[in-house]
Amino acid sequence: MNADICVIGSGAGGAVAAAELAEGGAEVVLLEQGAAHDPDDFSARPPEMLARLYRDGGQTLTLGKPPMLLPLGRGIGGTTLVNSGTCFRTPAHVLERWSAEFGLELDEASLRPCFERVEQALSVAEVTPELAGANAAVARRGAERLGWSHGYLSRNARGCVGSGVCVFGCPTSAKQHTGITYIPRARAAGARIVTGADVREIVLERGRARGVRARLSGGRALEVRAPLVVVACGAIHTPLLLARNGIGGGSGQLGRNLSLHPATAAFALMEERIDMARGVPQSFYVDEFAAEGIMFEGVAGPPGYAAMSLPLSGARHARAMARYRDLAQFGLMVSDSSRGQVRSLGGRPLIRYDLAHEDLLKFRAGLARLEELFLAAGAREVYLPLPQGVRPEQARARDLKLMAFHPLGTARADARPSHGVTDGELAVHDVEGVYVADGSVVPSALGVNPQMTIMALATRLAMNLLEKAPAPATAARGAPHESESEAACPS
Ligand SMILES: Cc1cc2nc3c(=O)[nH]c(=O)nc-3n(C[C@H](O)[C@H](O)[C@H](O)COP(=O)(O)OP(=O)(O)OC[C@H]3O[C@@H](n4cnc5c(N)ncnc54)[C@H](O)[C@@H]3O)c2cc1C
Ligand code: SF4
Repeated sequence: MNADICVIGSGAGGAVAAAELAEGGAEVVLLEQGAAHDPDDFSARPPEMLARLYRDGGQTLTLGKPPMLLPLGRGIGGTTLVNSGTCFRTPAHVLERWSAEFGLELDEASLRPCFERVEQALSVAEVTPELAGANAAVARRGAERLGWSHGYLSRNARGCVGSGVCVFGCPTSAKQHTGITYIPRARAAGARIVTGADVREIVLERGRARGVRARLSGGRALEVRAPLVVVACGAIHTPLLLARNGIGGGSGQLGRNLSLHPATAAFALMEERIDMARGVPQSFYVDEFAAEGIMFEGVAGPPGYAAMSLPLSGARHARAMARYRDLAQFGLMVSDSSRGQVRSLGGRPLIRYDLAHEDLLKFRAGLARLEELFLAAGAREVYLPLPQGVRPEQARARDLKLMAFHPLGTARADARPSHGVTDGELAVHDVEGVYVADGSVVPSALGVNPQMTIMALATRLAMNLLEKAPAPATAARGAPHESESEAACPS
């Protein structure tokens, strides 16, 4: 199979890059390891959907203090298929840091057209209070009484009915993940999308990309010959693929600098009906302490999910679950200074991540404030994710029950080849024709959910490639996307 550009992975980065490139006239082949999922098969039953939509059934684990679950999506749409739909632009202070620390020429003004383009494609809009439901109303009441900054989140959803199961696959296809937005656009513009294609090799000749080799799920081999390769396997698998092919190792940073936004959540027993599974689970935020690296965002789910995540055991767990309809839940996410590492162990990722003391302090402060938020909202009891009797200020790293959803940084962009795996244009430093368009290029924690940042950077990469590419890639064919003429992201 021949193409101008081969894109690997169909998540936040890969799908966006593929669609923009195809609509710009490039011949694109996109290879995705997982399957295409049919929303008619989405049952909203957590164990079933975890097994079907997540890599390793959602049981990807980090090793370290404390160990954490790091769930990853697998299939058309990548992790956007199973995410909560929250949309934030990259904060300005983060872009300023990237410019000063990593020499990246990115700022709010230059990225704005890319964000606008993505937001239009994904129908991003703020959640209404009605759709946000009673769980969000509890957090809002608490924040208002305490005078803390807060608001309804923006999300990529259209016709959302608040069924509360976004992370188990949206059964109504309201969530505008890349599998139902950018992938159909890519296909309509002529891109060939191959599922069940596990890319093993990036073919190089004299330091230049020549294509990729993949193993198809049926066992057959597939070769795509292309002078440009865009790797978008996500921050856990991209460094493995590059390392296996001896690419991107020059700086010694490949697989390093992993940030995760470690997170946890507390429950509260309220004196009112909450029915937390009714409404959008992640619909509200409290950002009063964002400057300290502490962000509160909604989280909620059906009884099966609550039973798994309620930080209680024995009779206390049973009693709380018997009051499921009066339970509220809210999440805490830390903008981490800790840095982990991904390596290959027998071809599978071995993820090492220890929580730095600085981040432990953020969790201590965050949990105390989460308790304060619930008490201010009128909670009768608050269930913190700590062993019984341990107060937030006493918590040690191993006491915390953490999960993480935002792996970033393992092929970080840095203008200096000695410090980063990719440059400011997201080209891998030590080869020609290999680019990265996923969470692994994001050089630091963001403090906010990352999908929009990844998509905006992928949009920018696609525009830059189209601008540079010789014919035929620049000779537009097919109907361009309606917004194409309005926004060309500057480099
Ligand atoms: C439960 C959950 C909730 C989340 N909620 C939010 C949210 O509300 N807002 C937000 O901004 N972010 C959220 N995120 C995070 C966000 O979805 C991810 O940061 C984002 O999707 C990452 O994009 P990516 O392109 O780096 O990788 P992914 O989206 O993970 O895509 C990578 C793709 O590459 C494929 N792949 C891997 N290796 C290969 C290979 N060798 N060959 C072929 N294909 C391969 C994978 O199968 C996968 O489909 C959430 C994440 C989770 C798990
Ligand atoms: S709340 Fe329900 S309908 Fe809305 S995006 Fe989530 S899963 Fe889809």
